[in-house]
Amino acid sequence: MPSDTQAGKPEKILILGGTREAADLARELVAKGLDVTTSLAGRTKEPAPLDGKVRIGGFGGAEGLAAYLDAEGFTRVIDATHPFARTISANAVKACAIASLPLDIRTRAPWERQPGDNWIEVSSLEDAAAALPQNARVLLALGRQYLDAFLPRTDCHFVIRMVDPPETPFAFAHHTVLTAKPALNPDEEAALFRAHAITHIVCRNSGGDGAYAKIITARMMGLPVVMVGR
Ligand code: NAP
Repeated sequence: MPSDTQAGKPEKILILGGTREAADLARELVAKGLDVTTSLAGRTKEPAPLDGKVRIGGFGGAEGLAAYLDAEGFTRVIDATHPFARTISANAVKACAIASLPLDIRTRAPWERQPGDNWIEVSSLEDAAAALPQNARVLLALGRQYLDAFLPRTDCHFVIRMVDPPETPFAFAHHTVLTAKPALNPDEEAALFRAHAITHIVCRNSGGDGAYAKIITARMMGLPVVMVGR
């Protein structure tokens, strides 16, 4: 990546972040001496420290983002947001068009089914809930805002892993909350699956390495994964 723009202005980069890949990218670009700001939506209470500058909170739509880019003198935007964060990605496209700035899209590719994977592919959370058999014990690997679709499954036991503990108790008939990040090591995931007698995993096809250990573990243990597509 050039350190000077075509107009001769030094590069000033805005990374739309909130992912491990965005944090890695910020570290890499700061190490090259570039002026980097990472933008976070503010969903996580205590975000991990990031290299470079950080700003937190929404911009007020595409126009708000365009105005921010202009006011702060950014020369480039990198979209390294989560692949399911669609609004901000669409806003980035519009804002960069308004501000006439280059946009690099670095969102993750989806995971591809590998030999040995037992995936039940669905296109909505409701379909995911309906795909679970009676009395399943389910690792629900989804963010807080995606859980309600599973409430009607009062026959199932849900194991819910979250970075921040829930602010209000969940209304599931049977559930366990684990306050933890996904393990990076499949053996650690396997120990967790066994400890909770997991029979099914539900997740979205987020891609990337950070949350892939559970997919490898499910493959090793022959467990079905209900995979919500993009
Ligand atoms: P979204 O639905 O695409 O965006 C909703 C609104 O949140 C946007 O219109 C924007 O508000 C604000 N926003 C989103 N990302 C932002 C960012 N990086 N910096 C500043 N404002 C941002 O996004 P989302 O799915 O809620 O995800 C929010 C953040 O969490 C993203 O940074 C994403 O990378 C991260 N994340 C999301 C997921 C996921 O499953 N969706 C998973 C892991 C991490 P304004 O319109 O006011 O600008």
